Amino acid sequence: MELGLKGKVAVITGGSVGIGLAIAEGFAAEGVNLVLAARDEARLDRVAETIRETHGVRVVPVACDVSLAEAATQIVGAAEAEFGGADILINNAGTGSNETIMEAPDSKWDFYWNLHVMAAVRLARGLVPGMKRRGGGVILHNASICASQPLGYEPIYNVTKAALVMFSKNLANEVVRDNIRVNTVNPGLVLTPDWIKTAKELTADSGGDWEAHLQSVADEYAPIRRFASAAEIANLFVFLCSDRASYCVGSTFFADGGMLRTI
Ligand code: NDP
Repeated sequence: MELGLKGKVAVITGGSVGIGLAIAEGFAAEGVNLVLAARDEARLDRVAETIRETHGVRVVPVACDVSLAEAATQIVGAAEAEFGGADILINNAGTGSNETIMEAPDSKWDFYWNLHVMAAVRLARGLVPGMKRRGGGVILHNASICASQPLGYEPIYNVTKAALVMFSKNLANEVVRDNIRVNTVNPGLVLTPDWIKTAKELTADSGGDWEAHLQSVADEYAPIRRFASAAEIANLFVFLCSDRASYCVGSTFFADGGMLRTI
């Protein structure tokens, strides 16, 4: 299927590992040039070099913490300087939490609000003017099934991801007439290095069978009884950014192996 993405420019936050890296690789395979943002500069540089060598696209790494306002300035500046703006924005950087509402301090709520919501707000403000100049664009938010179906141990994650979905809907309405399509993807369980690390930690004192632990998580939550690979989720992102998804606006697309218990 011809996706019509060749030569476009995509900004991806959290593009150095996990789902963000899989999206970067999916885009690069379609000939999309990239601006990748993450905090760990050494890892980001390594990933950028590998993608350049493998796919022959231009990749600009921007080492920054997207929960801080200055990161948006850095990312938008890099996209403008290298490519004259961007056609695609993927707000993907994020992480789980673990707390109770009774015990979590304001500072923890502030951190996740900035990471999951304000980063997307600031990057939209910074990149939409360029998208308008270029004739249109696509913005995708990586929220989570937890935005609709909360996991009990991470209320701050659930709440801020739900806010991101609502932000996405509002932004979609605001920019659709500028030929900019905005949508959200809600993944379920996705096997990323972080899940493996946690499983190894949790099983270290009981024999170390981390794979059995992950299987038990999949069995408990996902009717498909397995995790998704990051590439399986990335495929949906790449499709939604393509001309083939031209009527998809203001929606939330689940990719969760049946985990969502409602229709
Ligand atoms: P990973 O932990 O594997 O990767 C996260 C990426 O984001 C890394 O590149 C990381 O790089 C970057 N990142 C994290 N915090 C910041 C920050 N403050 N500023 C800049 N970059 C940052 O995560 P996943 O791939 O698992 O998750 C990606 C997104 O998908 C998240 O938003 C997550 O909530 C969502 N999701 C994940 C699911 C899963 O099962 N894995 C399920 C549903 C949703 P660095 O550390 O160098 O900054």
